[in-house]
Amino acid sequence: MARREQFDAVVVGAGPNGLAAAVTLARAGLHVQVVERGDTIGGGARTAELTLPGFHHDICSAVHPMALASGFFRSFGLERRIDLVVPEISYAHPLDGGRAGIAYRDIDRTADALGRDGDAWRSLMGPLAADADRVSQFTGGKLLQVPRHPVTVARFGLRALEQGSPAWNLRFREETAPAMLSGVAAHSIRPMPSLSTSAAALSLGAYAHARGWPIPVGGSQAIVDALAADLLAHGGEIVTGTEVRSIDELPSARAVLFDTTPKALAEIAGSRLPDAYLRRLSRFRYGDGVAKVDFALSGPVPWTNPELARAGTLHLGGTRPEIAAAERDVARGRHSESPYVLVSQPDVGDPGRAPGDAQVLWAYTHVPSGSGLDQTEAITRQIERFAPGFRDVILTSASMTARDMARYNPNYVLGDIAAGAASFAQLVARPVLSNDPWRTPTPGIFLCSSSTPPGPGVHGLAGWHAARSALRSVFGRDRMPSLAPDRPRPTS
Ligand SMILES: Cc1cc2nc3c(=O)[nH]c(=O)nc-3n(C[C@H](O)[C@H](O)[C@H](O)COP(=O)(O)OP(=O)(O)OC[C@H]3O[C@@H](n4cnc5c(N)ncnc54)[C@H](O)[C@@H]3O)c2cc1C
Repeated sequence: MARREQFDAVVVGAGPNGLAAAVTLARAGLHVQVVERGDTIGGGARTAELTLPGFHHDICSAVHPMALASGFFRSFGLERRIDLVVPEISYAHPLDGGRAGIAYRDIDRTADALGRDGDAWRSLMGPLAADADRVSQFTGGKLLQVPRHPVTVARFGLRALEQGSPAWNLRFREETAPAMLSGVAAHSIRPMPSLSTSAAALSLGAYAHARGWPIPVGGSQAIVDALAADLLAHGGEIVTGTEVRSIDELPSARAVLFDTTPKALAEIAGSRLPDAYLRRLSRFRYGDGVAKVDFALSGPVPWTNPELARAGTLHLGGTRPEIAAAERDVARGRHSESPYVLVSQPDVGDPGRAPGDAQVLWAYTHVPSGSGLDQTEAITRQIERFAPGFRDVILTSASMTARDMARYNPNYVLGDIAAGAASFAQLVARPVLSNDPWRTPTPGIFLCSSSTPPGPGVHGLAGWHAARSALRSVFGRDRMPSLAPDRPRPTS
């Protein structure tokens, strides 16, 4: 950057959290610049033609349980700015022999199909789904704080203890319901049962029955494009194609917010951070990796159970013990023979992702940290298990190993898409135990990525909280600005 300018705030990284921070600061009337290493904005929310012309794939995030649950996106009015399709089936979990657990948005319909476990499902998930906004308020910030809604926290905590302990099967009598919970729990890429896996299962599971798991029309890029448009409309600037290697390269600013990992923060701004804080950051641990495959298909996946064709998201891998074993393998540094596979079928609500009858399919699996193994065959085999004939509809595919993920985005250290292991300890102390974990001890330097609370996901909350911290501590503002759309979106 040849020209040096004065900004109120500079944000390093244009992922959902960096953009959320930048929008919040710009809406407070500050002059903000965002600096992004990629040629395009978006971080883990970019959409591109990865396989064939006209086939639009989400490179990273695809499904957005937090889009309607996040306090930031609700203030931002995301629903009023882009089209979000909410599938009737939030997620499905196939089992051998054509059986499947189906999480409809309607909890009673879900429970009624679970036979002898229907009441157990209703009593576990019902109170959380009914209280989903408070659940998202509590899980959307620091976990260790005085709760505003203690009854919600107690309900959630007791269930999390149960589903995070060896007693996790006690309330169930059949295979399907526990498999469904484990499929959601596995989003956290941790061995199970544990408190972090049960917290993921219960919060994401509650949203599945509350506001649903939406898919943005056009792909996840639509979310970050809406953030960028608002930023630009409020005087913000975005510079792409510029990797920040040292804080000294940045234009001078009263606040610098890093949408990076603690590792990158230490490398870029270490000269301005106290040694004791750098030592604490060096203890932050990164988790296992993800290997992804995007498929271009000539038509729909031939699922044995036809109801699966209507699910936005699917969790493959079989029963609860099978999924727990697959995740244990990964934690022990092995590639599972029968891996857990997360699948998104965006065509369910957004048929425009591919030409004519063709479809795109998004799938990833968990692999040991730093793995360079292509998982196309392992993922294809797991899909074939529940959809014989799947290979016949594949036109082509594009694969990313965990190492490719890390090259694509340095926030995914050795392929860890959570930007820091989502263990319970690291959800509480993220990246350090602090009353204001977004703020570093150096005035004016903040961390705003998913390496801070509430952790991974496209929710913008980490950026929003970091911006609040900067507004208070650097700019002396206690009130958060309105983020609501300036004017209604024109109808076409
Ligand atoms: C394969 C995959 C699937 C996922 N699926 C989902 C999903 O379905 N739903 C969901 O909610 N979440 C999902 N996630 C997680 C989600 O994408 C992330 O949690 C989220 O994007 C984190 O946002 P962020 O802004 O903190 O960081 P990122 O999105 O990682 O953005 C960080 C940005 O900073 C830039 N940057 C980093 N270092 C520098 C530097 N030195 N200089 C300049 N720029 C820099 C990067 O290029 C990047 O653009 C998925 C992630 C992956 C990888």
